[in-house]
Amino acid sequence: MKYVIALDQGTTSSRTVLFNNLGDIVAVRQQEFPQLFPSPGRVEHNPLEIWESQLFTMTMLLKEENISPDDIKAIGITNQRETTIVWDKNTGEPVYNAIVWQDRRTAEYCEELKRQGLEELFKNKTGLVLDAYFSATKISWILNNVPSAKEKAFSGDLLFGTVDTWLLYKLTAGRVHATDVTNASRTLLYNIHELKWDDELLDLLQIPRQMLPEVLPSIGYFGALEKEWLGAEVPVFGMAGDQQAALFGQLCKEEGMAKNTYGTGCFMLMNTGKRIIKSDKGLLTTIAWGVENEVFYAIEGSVFVAGAVIQWMRDQLGLIQKAADSEALANSIPDNGGVYLVPAFTGLGTPHWDMFARGALLGLTRGSSKAHLVRAALESIVFQTCDVLDTMQMESGIPLQSLQVDGGAASNGFLMQFQSDMLNIPLLRAANTEATAQGAAFMAGVGAGLWKEEDLPSILRQGTHFYPAMEKSQRDNLKKHWKKAVKRALNWEEKNNFLR
Ligand code: ADP
Repeated sequence: MKYVIALDQGTTSSRTVLFNNLGDIVAVRQQEFPQLFPSPGRVEHNPLEIWESQLFTMTMLLKEENISPDDIKAIGITNQRETTIVWDKNTGEPVYNAIVWQDRRTAEYCEELKRQGLEELFKNKTGLVLDAYFSATKISWILNNVPSAKEKAFSGDLLFGTVDTWLLYKLTAGRVHATDVTNASRTLLYNIHELKWDDELLDLLQIPRQMLPEVLPSIGYFGALEKEWLGAEVPVFGMAGDQQAALFGQLCKEEGMAKNTYGTGCFMLMNTGKRIIKSDKGLLTTIAWGVENEVFYAIEGSVFVAGAVIQWMRDQLGLIQKAADSEALANSIPDNGGVYLVPAFTGLGTPHWDMFARGALLGLTRGSSKAHLVRAALESIVFQTCDVLDTMQMESGIPLQSLQVDGGAASNGFLMQFQSDMLNIPLLRAANTEATAQGAAFMAGVGAGLWKEEDLPSILRQGTHFYPAMEKSQRDNLKKHWKKAVKRALNWEEKNNFLR
Protein backbone atom coordinates (compact mmCIF):
# COMPACT_ATOMS: atom_id res chain seq x y z
CA MET A 1 0.00 0.00 0.00
CA LYS A 2 1.12 3.54 -0.77
CA TYR A 3 0.13 6.51 1.33
CA VAL A 4 -0.10 10.28 1.25
CA ILE A 5 0.11 12.39 4.39
CA ALA A 6 -1.70 15.70 4.81
CA LEU A 7 -0.37 17.96 7.52
CA ASP A 8 -3.32 20.18 8.43
CA GLN A 9 -2.11 22.95 10.69
CA GLY A 10 -5.29 24.74 11.86
CA THR A 11 -5.90 27.69 14.15
CA THR A 12 -6.76 25.62 17.19
CA SER A 13 -5.08 22.30 16.48
CA SER A 14 -2.51 20.47 14.41
CA ARG A 15 -3.65 17.39 12.56
CA THR A 16 -2.01 14.65 10.56
CA VAL A 17 -4.28 12.78 8.17
CA LEU A 18 -3.14 9.61 6.45
CA PHE A 19 -4.70 8.75 3.06
CA ASN A 20 -4.23 5.49 1.18
CA ASN A 21 -3.76 5.37 -2.58
CA LEU A 22 -7.52 5.01 -3.07
CA GLY A 23 -7.92 8.42 -1.47
CA ASP A 24 -9.52 7.07 1.72
CA ILE A 25 -8.61 8.36 5.15
CA VAL A 26 -6.85 5.60 7.05
CA ALA A 27 -5.96 7.43 10.25
CA VAL A 28 -6.02 10.86 11.88
CA ARG A 29 -4.11 12.26 14.84
CA GLN A 30 -4.85 15.66 16.29
CA GLN A 31 -3.47 17.82 19.04
CA GLU A 32 -4.79 21.14 20.29
CA PHE A 33 -2.27 23.77 21.30
CA PRO A 34 -2.56 26.88 23.49
CA GLN A 35 -4.19 30.06 22.24
CA LEU A 36 -2.47 33.08 23.74
CA PHE A 37 -4.44 36.29 24.40
CA PRO A 38 -1.85 38.72 25.82
CA SER A 39 -4.27 41.69 25.77
CA PRO A 40 -7.63 42.62 24.22
CA GLY A 41 -7.52 42.24 20.45
CA ARG A 42 -4.25 40.32 20.45
CA VAL A 43 -4.01 36.63 19.55
CA GLU A 44 -0.74 34.71 19.42
CA HIS A 45 0.62 31.17 19.11
CA ASN A 46 3.98 29.88 20.14
CA PRO A 47 5.61 28.87 16.80
CA LEU A 48 7.47 26.03 18.51
CA GLU A 49 4.19 24.67 19.88
CA ILE A 50 2.77 24.80 16.35
CA TRP A 51 5.74 22.86 15.02
CA GLU A 52 6.00 20.39 17.89
CA SER A 53 2.29 19.56 17.89
CA GLN A 54 2.43 19.04 14.12
CA LEU A 55 5.50 16.81 14.30
CA PHE A 56 4.04 14.91 17.25
CA THR A 57 0.81 14.05 15.44
CA MET A 58 2.76 12.85 12.40
CA THR A 59 5.27 10.68 14.26
CA MET A 60 2.62 9.24 16.60
CA LEU A 61 0.36 8.36 13.71
CA LEU A 62 3.05 6.44 11.85
CA LYS A 63 4.22 4.68 14.98
CA GLU A 64 0.78 3.71 16.26
CA GLU A 65 -0.47 2.63 12.83
CA ASN A 66 2.78 0.82 12.15
CA ILE A 67 3.33 2.53 8.78
CA SER A 68 6.78 2.52 7.21
CA PRO A 69 7.93 5.98 6.07
CA ASP A 70 9.14 4.37 2.83
CA ASP A 71 5.49 3.75 1.90
CA ILE A 72 4.65 7.45 2.08
CA LYS A 73 4.83 8.82 -1.42
CA ALA A 74 4.16 12.44 -0.63
CA ILE A 75 3.31 14.97 2.04
CA GLY A 76 0.94 17.86 1.49
CA ILE A 77 0.90 20.84 3.82
CA THR A 78 -2.14 22.99 4.48
CA ASN A 79 -2.33 25.66 7.10
CA GLN A 80 -4.05 28.50 8.92
CA ARG A 81 -3.30 31.41 6.63
CA GLU A 82 -1.86 34.92 7.18
CA THR A 83 -0.52 34.03 10.64
CA THR A 84 2.91 35.56 10.73
CA ILE A 85 6.18 34.14 12.03
CA VAL A 86 9.59 35.79 11.93
CA TRP A 87 12.64 33.80 12.90
CA ASP A 88 16.40 34.08 13.05
CA LYS A 89 18.01 32.61 9.95
CA ASN A 90 21.09 31.54 11.89
CA THR A 91 19.47 29.80 14.85
CA GLY A 92 16.00 28.95 13.49
CA GLU A 93 14.55 30.51 16.65
CA PRO A 94 11.44 32.70 16.34
CA VAL A 95 12.08 36.29 17.41
CA TYR A 96 8.46 36.71 18.56
CA ASN A 97 5.31 34.63 18.92
CA ALA A 98 3.26 33.91 15.82
CA ILE A 99 0.80 36.77 15.33
CA VAL A 100 -2.44 35.03 14.44
CA TRP A 101 -4.76 36.11 11.61
CA GLN A 102 -7.41 37.14 14.19
CA ASP A 103 -5.04 39.61 15.86
CA ARG A 104 -6.12 43.27 15.56
CA ARG A 105 -3.05 45.06 16.93
CA THR A 106 -2.19 46.64 13.59
CA ALA A 107 -5.69 48.03 12.99
CA GLU A 108 -4.56 51.60 13.58
CA TYR A 109 -1.53 51.16 11.33
CA CYS A 110 -3.91 50.05 8.58
CA GLU A 111 -6.09 53.09 9.22
CA GLU A 112 -3.00 55.28 8.89
CA LEU A 113 -2.05 53.69 5.56
CA LYS A 114 -5.62 54.27 4.39
CA ARG A 115 -5.41 57.92 5.41
CA GLN A 116 -2.35 58.13 3.19
CA GLY A 117 -4.61 57.04 0.34
CA LEU A 118 -2.91 53.69 -0.19
CA GLU A 119 -5.91 51.38 -0.03
CA GLU A 120 -6.51 51.22 -3.79
CA LEU A 121 -2.85 50.55 -4.48
CA PHE A 122 -2.80 47.54 -2.16
CA LYS A 123 -6.10 46.29 -3.49
CA ASN A 124 -5.17 46.64 -7.15
CA LYS A 125 -1.95 44.74 -6.69
CA THR A 126 -2.86 42.11 -4.09
CA GLY A 127 -6.64 41.71 -4.47
CA LEU A 128 -6.95 42.21 -0.69
CA VAL A 129 -8.31 44.95 1.51
CA LEU A 130 -5.91 46.92 3.66
CA ASP A 131 -6.66 45.16 6.93
CA ALA A 132 -4.83 43.97 10.03
CA TYR A 133 -5.92 40.45 9.16
CA PHE A 134 -3.19 39.90 6.55
CA SER A 135 0.49 39.25 7.19
CA ALA A 136 2.14 42.46 5.96
CA THR A 137 1.36 44.79 8.85
CA LYS A 138 2.02 41.98 11.32
CA ILE A 139 5.56 41.68 9.90
CA SER A 140 5.97 45.46 10.24
CA TRP A 141 4.81 45.25 13.85
CA ILE A 142 7.43 42.64 14.68
CA LEU A 143 10.18 44.58 12.91
CA ASN A 144 9.21 47.78 14.71
CA ASN A 145 8.61 46.33 18.18
CA VAL A 146 11.09 43.52 18.73
CA PRO A 147 14.44 45.02 19.76
CA SER A 148 16.93 45.15 16.87
CA ALA A 149 14.61 43.13 14.62
CA LYS A 150 14.57 45.76 11.90
CA GLU A 151 18.36 45.99 11.61
CA LYS A 152 18.64 42.23 11.62
CA ALA A 153 15.98 41.93 8.95
CA PHE A 154 17.76 44.43 6.71
CA SER A 155 21.10 42.73 7.23
CA GLY A 156 19.53 39.47 6.06
CA ASP A 157 19.45 37.66 9.39
CA LEU A 158 15.68 37.22 9.75
CA LEU A 159 13.23 35.17 7.74
CA PHE A 160 9.50 35.59 7.45
CA GLY A 161 7.03 32.84 6.81
CA THR A 162 3.37 32.03 7.08
CA VAL A 163 2.75 28.74 8.88
CA ASP A 164 3.30 26.60 5.74
CA THR A 165 6.72 28.13 5.26
CA TRP A 166 7.61 27.71 8.93
CA LEU A 167 6.64 24.02 8.88
CA LEU A 168 8.49 23.38 5.61
CA TYR A 169 11.56 25.11 7.03
CA LYS A 170 11.43 22.94 10.15
CA LEU A 171 10.64 19.74 8.24
CA THR A 172 13.63 20.30 5.95
CA ALA A 173 15.87 21.31 8.86
CA GLY A 174 16.23 24.82 7.49
CA ARG A 175 17.16 23.81 3.93
CA VAL A 176 14.04 25.19 2.25
CA HIS A 177 12.51 28.64 2.73
CA ALA A 178 9.53 28.61 0.39
CA THR A 179 5.79 29.15 0.21
CA ASP A 180 3.14 28.49 -2.42
CA VAL A 181 1.15 30.98 -4.49
CA THR A 182 -2.00 30.66 -2.36
CA ASN A 183 -0.26 31.49 0.88
CA ALA A 184 1.74 34.26 -0.79
CA SER A 185 -1.53 35.77 -2.03
CA ARG A 186 -2.63 36.28 1.61
CA THR A 187 0.30 38.39 2.75
CA LEU A 188 -0.75 41.75 1.23
CA LEU A 189 2.71 41.82 -0.37
CA TYR A 190 2.21 39.56 -3.39
CA ASN A 191 1.21 40.97 -6.76
CA ILE A 192 -1.46 38.54 -8.03
CA HIS A 193 -1.30 39.91 -11.59
CA GLU A 194 2.46 39.78 -12.04
CA LEU A 195 2.89 36.79 -9.70
CA LYS A 196 5.78 38.20 -7.70
CA TRP A 197 6.53 39.97 -4.41
CA ASP A 198 5.76 43.62 -4.99
CA ASP A 199 8.74 45.91 -4.43
CA GLU A 200 6.64 49.06 -4.16
CA LEU A 201 4.54 47.60 -1.33
CA LEU A 202 7.63 46.23 0.40
CA ASP A 203 9.23 49.69 0.27
CA LEU A 204 6.11 51.33 1.68
CA LEU A 205 6.04 48.98 4.66
CA GLN A 206 9.83 48.86 4.98
CA ILE A 207 10.02 45.11 4.75
CA PRO A 208 13.22 43.80 3.17
CA ARG A 209 12.66 41.51 0.17
CA GLN A 210 15.34 39.12 1.38
CA MET A 211 13.32 37.95 4.37
CA LEU A 212 10.51 36.64 2.13
CA PRO A 213 10.28 33.03 0.96
CA GLU A 214 10.54 31.78 -2.60
CA VAL A 215 7.05 31.36 -4.13
CA LEU A 216 6.28 28.01 -5.80
CA PRO A 217 3.18 26.48 -7.48
CA SER A 218 0.83 24.72 -5.02
CA ILE A 219 1.26 21.40 -6.80
CA GLY A 220 4.86 20.31 -7.30
CA TYR A 221 8.06 19.54 -5.44
CA PHE A 222 8.89 21.63 -2.37
CA GLY A 223 11.65 19.65 -0.69
CA ALA A 224 12.38 16.48 1.30
CA LEU A 225 12.05 15.88 5.02
CA GLU A 226 15.11 15.73 7.19
CA LYS A 227 15.69 12.00 7.71
CA GLU A 228 15.68 12.28 11.48
CA TRP A 229 11.94 13.12 11.67
CA LEU A 230 10.47 9.95 10.16
CA GLY A 231 13.48 7.85 9.24
CA ALA A 232 13.14 8.58 5.51
CA GLU A 233 13.48 11.63 3.30
CA VAL A 234 9.80 11.83 2.44
CA PRO A 235 9.09 14.50 -0.22
CA VAL A 236 6.65 17.40 0.14
CA PHE A 237 4.69 17.69 -3.11
CA GLY A 238 1.77 19.97 -2.31
CA MET A 239 1.07 23.08 -0.30
CA ALA A 240 -1.85 25.47 -0.03
CA GLY A 241 -3.57 27.67 2.50
CA ASP A 242 -6.41 25.86 4.27
CA GLN A 243 -9.29 27.47 2.37
CA GLN A 244 -7.77 26.99 -1.05
CA ALA A 245 -6.94 23.40 -0.13
CA ALA A 246 -10.59 22.86 0.84
CA LEU A 247 -11.73 24.31 -2.52
CA PHE A 248 -9.44 21.82 -4.25
CA GLY A 249 -10.45 19.01 -1.90
CA GLN A 250 -14.12 19.64 -2.71
CA LEU A 251 -13.13 19.56 -6.38
CA CYS A 252 -14.65 22.99 -7.02
CA LYS A 253 -12.49 23.09 -10.09
CA GLU A 254 -14.85 24.79 -12.49
CA GLU A 255 -15.63 28.47 -12.68
CA GLY A 256 -18.67 29.31 -10.52
CA MET A 257 -18.31 26.41 -8.08
CA ALA A 258 -18.17 27.44 -4.43
CA LYS A 259 -17.56 25.99 -1.00
CA ASN A 260 -17.93 27.06 2.59
CA THR A 261 -15.75 25.69 5.36
CA TYR A 262 -17.18 25.93 8.87
CA GLY A 263 -14.18 26.05 11.17
CA THR A 264 -13.05 28.61 13.72
CA GLY A 265 -14.08 31.16 11.09
CA CYS A 266 -16.18 30.57 7.97
CA PHE A 267 -14.55 30.82 4.61
CA MET A 268 -16.34 30.90 1.32
CA LEU A 269 -14.46 30.64 -1.91
CA MET A 270 -15.84 30.74 -5.42
CA ASN A 271 -13.63 29.56 -8.27
CA THR A 272 -13.40 32.27 -10.95
CA GLY A 273 -11.00 30.40 -13.25
CA LYS A 274 -8.61 32.69 -15.10
CA ARG A 275 -10.70 35.75 -14.23
CA ILE A 276 -9.53 38.20 -11.59
CA ILE A 277 -12.76 39.69 -10.21
CA LYS A 278 -12.25 42.95 -8.39
CA SER A 279 -14.68 43.54 -5.56
CA ASP A 280 -16.14 46.81 -4.34
CA LYS A 281 -17.92 45.21 -1.42
CA GLY A 282 -15.06 43.87 0.61
CA LEU A 283 -14.66 40.47 -1.01
CA LEU A 284 -11.11 39.38 -1.54
CA THR A 285 -9.55 38.33 -4.79
CA THR A 286 -7.13 35.54 -4.22
CA ILE A 287 -5.21 32.73 -5.88
CA ALA A 288 -7.11 29.42 -5.87
CA TRP A 289 -4.05 27.32 -6.71
CA GLY A 290 -1.12 27.18 -9.05
CA VAL A 291 0.22 24.28 -11.05
CA GLU A 292 3.30 24.52 -13.26
CA ASN A 293 3.06 27.93 -14.92
CA GLU A 294 -0.68 28.31 -14.53
CA VAL A 295 -2.58 30.08 -11.79
CA PHE A 296 -6.33 30.00 -11.10
CA TYR A 297 -8.22 32.65 -9.16
CA ALA A 298 -11.06 32.79 -6.66
CA ILE A 299 -13.13 35.34 -4.79
CA GLU A 300 -13.38 34.90 -1.09
CA GLY A 301 -15.53 36.12 1.73
CA SER A 302 -14.85 35.43 5.34
CA VAL A 303 -16.57 35.38 8.68
CA PHE A 304 -14.05 35.84 11.49
CA VAL A 305 -16.01 34.10 14.24
CA ALA A 306 -18.02 31.03 13.27
CA GLY A 307 -17.26 27.79 15.13
CA ALA A 308 -15.35 29.96 17.57
CA VAL A 309 -18.66 31.27 18.91
CA ILE A 310 -19.49 27.70 19.94
CA GLN A 311 -16.05 27.36 21.49
CA TRP A 312 -16.72 30.58 23.37
CA MET A 313 -20.03 29.23 24.70
CA ARG A 314 -18.21 26.09 25.80
CA ASP A 315 -15.07 27.63 27.34
CA GLN A 316 -15.97 31.14 28.48
CA LEU A 317 -19.65 30.73 29.34
CA GLY A 318 -19.67 27.02 30.18
CA LEU A 319 -23.12 26.64 28.54
CA ILE A 320 -22.17 23.37 26.86
CA GLN A 321 -19.63 20.67 27.58
CA LYS A 322 -18.70 19.94 24.01
CA ALA A 323 -19.36 21.70 20.71
CA ALA A 324 -21.61 18.91 19.44
CA ASP A 325 -24.04 19.46 22.38
CA SER A 326 -25.14 22.67 20.65
CA GLU A 327 -27.18 20.69 18.10
CA ALA A 328 -29.54 19.02 20.58
CA LEU A 329 -29.98 22.28 22.51
CA ALA A 330 -30.87 24.21 19.34
CA ASN A 331 -33.31 21.50 18.32
CA SER A 332 -34.94 21.49 21.77
CA ILE A 333 -36.80 24.73 20.97
CA PRO A 334 -39.00 25.52 17.96
CA ASP A 335 -37.30 28.82 17.07
CA ASN A 336 -34.81 31.40 18.31
CA GLY A 337 -37.44 33.11 20.51
CA GLY A 338 -36.35 36.47 19.10
CA VAL A 339 -32.77 36.15 20.38
CA TYR A 340 -29.94 37.23 18.07
CA LEU A 341 -26.23 37.04 18.74
CA VAL A 342 -23.79 39.04 16.61
CA PRO A 343 -20.40 37.46 17.36
CA ALA A 344 -18.32 40.44 16.26
CA PHE A 345 -15.65 39.58 18.83
CA THR A 346 -12.85 40.66 16.51
CA GLY A 347 -14.79 43.04 14.29
CA LEU A 348 -16.87 42.06 11.26
CA GLY A 349 -15.60 40.97 7.85
CA THR A 350 -17.44 40.87 4.52
CA PRO A 351 -19.52 42.86 3.67
CA HIS A 352 -19.04 45.25 6.63
CA TRP A 353 -15.25 45.29 7.23
CA ASP A 354 -15.75 47.09 10.51
CA MET A 355 -12.86 46.36 12.82
CA PHE A 356 -14.54 48.38 15.56
CA ALA A 357 -17.69 46.25 15.71
CA ARG A 358 -18.04 44.15 18.85
CA GLY A 359 -20.26 41.28 19.96
CA ALA A 360 -23.90 41.94 20.81
CA LEU A 361 -26.72 39.86 22.23
CA LEU A 362 -30.16 41.25 21.38
CA GLY A 363 -33.82 40.47 21.81
CA LEU A 364 -33.50 38.98 25.30
CA THR A 365 -36.63 38.54 27.35
CA ARG A 366 -37.36 36.94 30.73
CA GLY A 367 -38.15 33.76 28.82
CA SER A 368 -34.77 33.53 27.05
CA SER A 369 -32.98 30.33 27.99
CA LYS A 370 -29.61 28.72 27.54
CA ALA A 371 -31.05 26.93 24.50
CA HIS A 372 -31.98 30.28 22.93
CA LEU A 373 -28.44 31.58 23.39
CA VAL A 374 -26.91 28.47 21.88
CA ARG A 375 -29.39 28.48 19.01
CA ALA A 376 -28.71 32.18 18.39
CA ALA A 377 -25.00 31.36 18.24
CA LEU A 378 -25.52 28.66 15.61
CA GLU A 379 -27.90 30.87 13.66
CA SER A 380 -25.33 33.66 13.67
CA ILE A 381 -22.96 31.42 11.72
CA VAL A 382 -25.66 30.95 9.09
CA PHE A 383 -26.65 34.63 8.89
CA GLN A 384 -23.06 35.72 8.47
CA THR A 385 -22.59 33.14 5.71
CA CYS A 386 -25.70 34.44 3.90
CA ASP A 387 -24.36 38.01 4.04
CA VAL A 388 -21.15 36.92 2.35
CA LEU A 389 -22.71 34.68 -0.30
CA ASP A 390 -25.29 37.31 -1.25
CA THR A 391 -22.42 39.72 -1.87
CA MET A 392 -20.48 37.14 -3.83
CA GLN A 393 -23.37 36.35 -6.16
CA MET A 394 -24.02 40.02 -6.74
CA GLU A 395 -20.42 40.90 -7.57
CA SER A 396 -19.57 37.89 -9.71
CA GLY A 397 -22.92 37.90 -11.47
CA ILE A 398 -23.03 34.13 -10.92
CA PRO A 399 -26.11 32.81 -9.05
CA LEU A 400 -25.20 29.89 -6.82
CA GLN A 401 -26.97 26.65 -7.66
CA SER A 402 -25.67 24.81 -4.63
CA LEU A 403 -22.97 25.04 -2.03
CA GLN A 404 -20.39 22.45 -1.01
CA VAL A 405 -19.67 22.48 2.70
CA ASP A 406 -17.09 21.05 5.06
CA GLY A 407 -15.17 21.84 8.25
CA GLY A 408 -15.56 20.83 11.89
CA ALA A 409 -18.88 22.59 12.52
CA ALA A 410 -20.45 21.21 9.30
CA SER A 411 -21.11 18.01 11.25
CA ASN A 412 -23.90 19.93 13.02
CA GLY A 413 -27.15 18.90 11.31
CA PHE A 414 -29.16 21.81 12.69
CA LEU A 415 -26.61 24.24 11.33
CA MET A 416 -26.66 22.65 7.87
CA GLN A 417 -30.45 22.54 7.58
CA PHE A 418 -30.82 26.13 8.77
CA GLN A 419 -28.13 27.16 6.29
CA SER A 420 -29.93 25.49 3.39
CA ASP A 421 -33.21 27.09 4.53
CA MET A 422 -31.74 30.58 4.77
CA LEU A 423 -29.89 30.38 1.42
CA ASN A 424 -32.79 28.58 -0.22
CA ILE A 425 -30.42 26.32 -2.16
CA PRO A 426 -29.29 22.71 -1.58
CA LEU A 427 -26.13 22.04 0.38
CA LEU A 428 -23.78 19.17 -0.32
CA ARG A 429 -21.76 18.19 2.73
CA ALA A 430 -18.54 16.39 1.90
CA ALA A 431 -18.45 12.77 3.02
CA ASN A 432 -15.06 13.60 4.34
CA THR A 433 -15.45 16.80 6.39
CA GLU A 434 -11.66 16.99 6.32
CA ALA A 435 -11.86 18.64 2.88
CA THR A 436 -8.89 20.81 3.77
CA ALA A 437 -6.68 17.80 4.43
CA GLN A 438 -8.16 16.09 1.40
CA GLY A 439 -7.16 19.02 -0.80
CA ALA A 440 -3.60 18.96 0.52
CA ALA A 441 -3.43 15.20 -0.01
CA PHE A 442 -4.88 15.49 -3.53
CA MET A 443 -2.35 18.19 -4.40
CA ALA A 444 0.55 16.17 -3.01
CA GLY A 445 -0.64 12.94 -4.66
CA VAL A 446 -1.01 14.68 -8.02
CA GLY A 447 2.34 16.41 -7.57
CA ALA A 448 4.01 13.08 -6.88
CA GLY A 449 2.30 11.41 -9.84
CA LEU A 450 0.35 8.96 -7.64
CA TRP A 451 -2.95 10.27 -9.05
CA LYS A 452 -3.87 12.14 -12.20
CA GLU A 453 -5.98 15.26 -11.78
CA GLU A 454 -8.74 13.77 -13.94
CA ASP A 455 -8.93 10.70 -11.66
CA LEU A 456 -9.81 12.72 -8.56
CA PRO A 457 -13.63 12.80 -9.06
CA SER A 458 -13.76 9.00 -8.98
CA ILE A 459 -11.78 8.99 -5.74
CA LEU A 460 -14.11 11.43 -3.97
CA ARG A 461 -16.82 9.80 -1.79
CA GLN A 462 -20.53 10.78 -2.09
CA GLY A 463 -21.59 13.31 0.53
CA THR A 464 -24.92 14.23 2.22
CA HIS A 465 -27.49 16.61 0.75
CA PHE A 466 -29.59 19.16 2.67
CA TYR A 467 -32.59 20.71 0.89
CA PRO A 468 -34.30 24.01 1.73
CA ALA A 469 -37.68 23.69 3.45
CA MET A 470 -38.52 27.13 4.86
CA GLU A 471 -41.27 29.56 3.86
CA LYS A 472 -40.03 32.79 2.30
CA SER A 473 -41.91 34.91 4.85
CA GLN A 474 -40.12 33.21 7.72
CA ARG A 475 -36.77 33.62 6.00
CA ASP A 476 -37.39 37.30 5.35
CA ASN A 477 -38.39 37.90 8.93
CA LEU A 478 -35.25 36.26 10.28
CA LYS A 479 -33.07 38.22 7.86
CA LYS A 480 -34.73 41.49 8.82
CA HIS A 481 -34.00 40.98 12.50
CA TRP A 482 -30.45 39.87 11.83
CA LYS A 483 -29.80 43.07 9.86
CA LYS A 484 -31.15 45.14 12.75
CA ALA A 485 -28.93 43.29 15.19
CA VAL A 486 -25.82 43.83 13.05
CA LYS A 487 -26.50 47.57 12.87
CA ARG A 488 -26.37 47.73 16.65
CA ALA A 489 -23.03 45.92 16.83
CA LEU A 490 -21.23 48.08 14.26
CA ASN A 491 -18.76 50.78 15.23
CA TRP A 492 -18.96 49.97 18.94
CA GLU A 493 -15.38 50.14 20.17
CA GLU A 494 -14.20 53.70 20.82
CA LYS A 495 -11.39 54.20 18.36
CA ASN A 496 -9.04 55.99 20.76
CA ASN A 497 -9.53 53.35 23.39
CA PHE A 498 -8.87 50.50 21.03
CA LEU A 499 -5.80 51.99 19.42
CA ARG A 500 -3.66 52.27 22.52
P1 ADP B 1 -10.13 24.92 12.63
O1 ADP B 1 -9.57 24.09 11.50
O2 ADP B 1 -10.39 26.34 12.28
O3 ADP B 1 -9.41 24.74 13.91
P2 ADP B 1 -12.29 22.92 12.68
O4 ADP B 1 -12.67 22.68 11.28
O5 ADP B 1 -11.56 21.87 13.42
O6 ADP B 1 -11.61 24.35 12.88
O7 ADP B 1 -13.64 23.19 13.46
C1 ADP B 1 -13.62 23.44 14.82
C2 ADP B 1 -14.65 24.50 15.14
O8 ADP B 1 -15.94 23.99 14.88
C3 ADP B 1 -14.57 24.88 16.59
O9 ADP B 1 -14.65 26.28 16.68
C4 ADP B 1 -15.81 24.22 17.21
O10 ADP B 1 -16.37 25.04 18.20
C5 ADP B 1 -16.74 24.07 16.04
N1 ADP B 1 -17.52 22.82 16.10
C6 ADP B 1 -17.05 21.56 16.08
N2 ADP B 1 -18.06 20.66 16.14
C7 ADP B 1 -19.20 21.37 16.18
C8 ADP B 1 -20.58 21.03 16.23
N3 ADP B 1 -21.00 19.76 16.23
N4 ADP B 1 -21.48 22.04 16.26
C9 ADP B 1 -21.08 23.33 16.22
N5 ADP B 1 -19.79 23.70 16.18
C10 ADP B 1 -18.87 22.74 16.15
